[in-house]
Amino acid sequence: MGARARKEFERQKPFEQGFIAEERVASRLADMAHVEPYEPRPGPGPNELRVLYREESQAKRRREARPGLWMAVAIYVLFSATDLLLIPDVALYTITARFAVGLTALLTLEGQLRRGVATQWLDVTCAAAIIFGYIGWLWPASWGADRETVAYYMVFGTIFMMSANLFFTFSFKVSIVTSTIILCILYVVNYFVPASLTYKMVFGTFYVSCFTFTSYVNWKLNEERYNVFLNALEAKIQHKEATERGKALLRLSRTDPLTGLENRRAIDEKLREYWSDWQKLGNRFAAILIDVDFFKKFNDCYGHQEGDRCLIHVANALGELITRYNGSIGRYGGEEFIVLARMNDKEQVADLSEAICRTVEDLALTHELRRDGTSIVTVSVGAAFTRTQAGAKLEKIIHEADRALYLAKAGGRNCARLFDPTDPQSSDESENIAALLKIAIDRNLVSLVYQPIQEIASGRVEAVEALMRLKMLDGILVPPSLFIPVAERTGAILELGRWAIRTVCTDVLAHDDVRVVSVNVSPIQLKTPGFATSVAGILGETGVAGSRLAFEITEGRELEMDSDILRCISDLKLLGIKIWLDDFGTGFAGLSWLRLIDFDTVKIDRSFLHDCGTPKGMAMLQDIIALVRNRGHKILVEGVETDEQMALMREFGIDKVQGYHVGRPMPAASFQAKQQVQKRPFTVLKSA
Ligand code: C2E
Ligand code: MG
Ligand code: MG
Repeated sequence: MGARARKEFERQKPFEQGFIAEERVASRLADMAHVEPYEPRPGPGPNELRVLYREESQAKRRREARPGLWMAVAIYVLFSATDLLLIPDVALYTITARFAVGLTALLTLEGQLRRGVATQWLDVTCAAAIIFGYIGWLWPASWGADRETVAYYMVFGTIFMMSANLFFTFSFKVSIVTSTIILCILYVVNYFVPASLTYKMVFGTFYVSCFTFTSYVNWKLNEERYNVFLNALEAKIQHKEATERGKALLRLSRTDPLTGLENRRAIDEKLREYWSDWQKLGNRFAAILIDVDFFKKFNDCYGHQEGDRCLIHVANALGELITRYNGSIGRYGGEEFIVLARMNDKEQVADLSEAICRTVEDLALTHELRRDGTSIVTVSVGAAFTRTQAGAKLEKIIHEADRALYLAKAGGRNCARLFDPTDPQSSDESENIAALLKIAIDRNLVSLVYQPIQEIASGRVEAVEALMRLKMLDGILVPPSLFIPVAERTGAILELGRWAIRTVCTDVLAHDDVRVVSVNVSPIQLKTPGFATSVAGILGETGVAGSRLAFEITEGRELEMDSDILRCISDLKLLGIKIWLDDFGTGFAGLSWLRLIDFDTVKIDRSFLHDCGTPKGMAMLQDIIALVRNRGHKILVEGVETDEQMALMREFGIDKVQGYHVGRPMPAASFQAKQQVQKRPFTVLKSA
């Protein structure tokens, strides 16, 4: 401790001093006990340890000085009784001296404590009390008339020596100086005492032995105290280390190692807290899911390290934003983040969701190959806000945010959607459909209808398109525009899709009613590992040739055309299956899909034919036809409903047509019956 620091320390009140010393030891301990687990710990040096020991022992001595001196003075005064017994003639003086010295010592100590003097001055007071207590008793006692008694009584001087060495917890130096002074006085008195030489020798030797013995014990005691201090310090350091390591491990177990944000486990805990606050105190909050758009593509293009860096940038930017809203942010999965924030109304939630999108956009991280016209990293955001409803459940808010996120992605990405319970895609109805889809196959709620496709040149029904139908338990039909998106969102499309392919093979293709059946296949199916293998399995089991199947793929927004899909398509082609592009012109990635995949047939969406009434619409249709033709694909136009439209198709030299004019979708049985009646397979069919 430096001189200034010491002065400052000495100025403190006794309690504060003790407290400060302990604080300092504790803070030094914190330095010694490293917070990072498994990091080696440098031990404190010997000098440092001595300083720490001194600081700690000072605090202890301070605490013990008052009770020690009061006890010593009390015993000292009680010895007045032996004065009265042994040296009654001078007892008045000795007792007066005892009281005077005792009182002076106590008053001095109390005054010092009150003023907060340094600990060593308290030691000096106690040491002086011993010396003066000794002199104050010895001097008047030596006037006693009974010399022999006085001579024996003087032996009690050794008690003062013991007090200096053993009773008080002085430092070794103070103890030795005090007991040496007492020894000297004893010697001087011993010299003058009118006693025999034997007495002087015996008691002289006794004094020296007593001094040596008590000084040795004092030295050992001091050593022992230091060892106890070292052991306690070691124990404290170990305890502190264990605590810090525990804390660090806990922190690790709750932190995402890449971004430093809270991980899913931690954020789930937070979510429970937010939820219970809402339930108990009515504090409303928003759960916001954030998904980095086309992140897989980013990784494929720039590599995983760059992908990690991208996530870190996004995490840091969002972290900063969320602190301003006093919310919590965590990494929820691969490229998905979650934000929880207390909010008062939907507008605030919408503002924050929008701010999240803009924050990531403002980072302007390059993402060149995403093929949707944007060339920077963006995020899609789905938010849900607490709302009073029957059977409110914690998981539901995340589920709702997830649904909103799905809609944000379907809505073109780089946008935010707030869950809207009145939206049919988000509504409870969609939940009912999701539940229905789970049991649809087992309960025969799902079926296929077939719509004919006519080849214009031959006028024959070249193929049929299989279209899925779903009915509710009460028999009411659910339109595909409602249940197909739900099936895609929930993943039910995978099982339904397999079922559709198998059904087409067994119910239609096995009977040779038609040459080709086209089946609608969602990109989600193509992305699922093992899809092509499962199709090969179905073809093998049913003995149908792959060339009799066509898969219609709709250019959707939900899924980017990635390497998995391309690989799956090439596997399907190896099986002989034809790949058709459905609803061409409605999506936003159609052209790039045309570039990437060699489609057998491109189906032009019926909206183009239906817009043909205006010259602009007509020109548009012609342009599209020219574009597809130039790419070398066969052209199918959907939605042909009238003779005029049919004539136009002939005029334009279209390969195939589909629409109510050719035939409406019908169940396999009706379709087969029609074929039987006409006895001419593959002919034009007009539905009833
Ligand atoms: P899509 O593949 O383009 O199917 C054609 C849709 O147009 C069918 O509607 C059909 O009934 C309708 N359509 C046919 N001709 C005409 C016409 O002349 N005029 C009009 N206005 N409409 C006509 P649907 O059956 O409601 O199917 C809607 C969509 O649902 C399908 O569009 C397809 O994208 C999807 N879908 C249907 N079945 C399946 C399936 O098994 N799997 C998958 N992934 N999607 C399916
Ligand atoms: Mg289709
Ligand atoms: Mg279509």
